Amino acid sequence: MFVRSESDSEMTGGAGGRASVAAPQVFTAKFRRRFSDFDVMPDLGSRIGSLTWYRGAATCIGLCAFTLLLAPGFENPIYGTVPPKMTGAQFDATRAQSIRPLGMGGTTGYRVAASRLVTPLTDTPERPILQSTAKLASGEALLGVLQRSGVGKGDASAVGALITKAVALGEIQPGTMLDLTLGRRADKSQPRPLEKLELRARFDLKLEVARSGGTLSLKEIPIAIDRTPLRIQGTIGGSLYRSARAAGAPAKAVETYIKTLASRVPVSRLGSGCKFDIIIGQARAETGEVQLGNLMYAGVSGCANNVQMLPYESGGKVEWYDSSGKGNTTGMMGMPANGRFSSSFGMRRHPILGYARMHKGVDIAAPWGSPVYAAADGVVQVAGRSSGYGNLIRLSHGGGNGSGYGHLSRIYVRPGQHVRKGQQIGAVGNTGMSTGPHLHYEWYKNGVAVNPRSISFSSTKQLTGGDLSQFRAKLNAMLAVPVGHGLERDED
Ligand SMILES: [Zn+2]
Repeated sequence: MFVRSESDSEMTGGAGGRASVAAPQVFTAKFRRRFSDFDVMPDLGSRIGSLTWYRGAATCIGLCAFTLLLAPGFENPIYGTVPPKMTGAQFDATRAQSIRPLGMGGTTGYRVAASRLVTPLTDTPERPILQSTAKLASGEALLGVLQRSGVGKGDASAVGALITKAVALGEIQPGTMLDLTLGRRADKSQPRPLEKLELRARFDLKLEVARSGGTLSLKEIPIAIDRTPLRIQGTIGGSLYRSARAAGAPAKAVETYIKTLASRVPVSRLGSGCKFDIIIGQARAETGEVQLGNLMYAGVSGCANNVQMLPYESGGKVEWYDSSGKGNTTGMMGMPANGRFSSSFGMRRHPILGYARMHKGVDIAAPWGSPVYAAADGVVQVAGRSSGYGNLIRLSHGGGNGSGYGHLSRIYVRPGQHVRKGQQIGAVGNTGMSTGPHLHYEWYKNGVAVNPRSISFSSTKQLTGGDLSQFRAKLNAMLAVPVGHGLERDED
């Protein structure tokens, strides 16, 4: 394309010609021919100080000044066009289609923006049926729980009235679950109508309240209960408690079992080869639930200390008896007050009267007002003022035994009242012939005062006659309970 003419071989920049740009070439050529010695760009390094040099320097300065004047400067930045920040639907739409690494917190695809086909609703639709469960803190809280679950006041009280027909609200166990089904309502300002309510009112009774034809009706569904007791046997091994627990006996029953055994055999010395035998009350519902009750039989077999114990009611009192009909040994005398013995039984010089006199009891020094307990079970014979004794209580314990408590500051019992061993009957005082707060404590055997510290007063109940044969029959029935119900339960 670029053809240099053969004739025009001068190297004076751009002087070579192309036919199309002939005009400037002609102009520069003419200029050069006319001012052959005019140098547009003199060398500022040579002939310094000459006219040409000054002209060159002026041209250079002029060009530099012109360039500086055209320069935009550094203090005023030049802005390019920046797109505005996206917000709202535009941002959502862009983000939904964008890709960003998850490691940098990309939310790609989290939310897809609504397209033009989407129109907002004026009202959200409701579920036609609402099912929920609620837990009762107590039966009495039923109405409140129903209303909190969205049942209307009218429906709730109707349900309350229906359920009361079958079972008292107080009888319903705390923690009972309510299964509620609420139906469709006409508008949102109204509570939903109750369609169905189910609850286990008792272990053996399920209640169902359902709406049919606009009114609620109650259906009672009895649940069959099998009350065969649970019998658990096993080797005692290293620890009776742990072995019995491992075999499936509940903690409370094992504790009662050990306590019951302890009244007859040294539990800690039972050989590891001995077998424990426990029978516990049990209720098994057909729906699968199991409730374990109280200990019904406590036994040890297979070693020297064989024991068979059963609770039996005799004389209005339930007690544990062993296979020979022997009850617990009771009546070991208790201390009537907490304190030290300050004066003993026998002849002594009376601290107030000054002469030797029989001291018919023992004195226990204790602070004024501290409690005085009945030393054994008995009936109050005397409760009131009695000259030298001050405020006095006398108890009769049966079998010719009696006890007396003198110098009391307070009396909490009345004559004829039955008291139990360890029950508080009065308070230590300083009434009557006394030199300071203490309890004067007497014991009578067939009307004669004896030293309370010398007697060991105990009795063992023994079943006889009809009681004994009834007890034996009960024991045999209990021993016929099959073993291993508890293990079956685990396999269910
Ligand atoms: Zn005394």
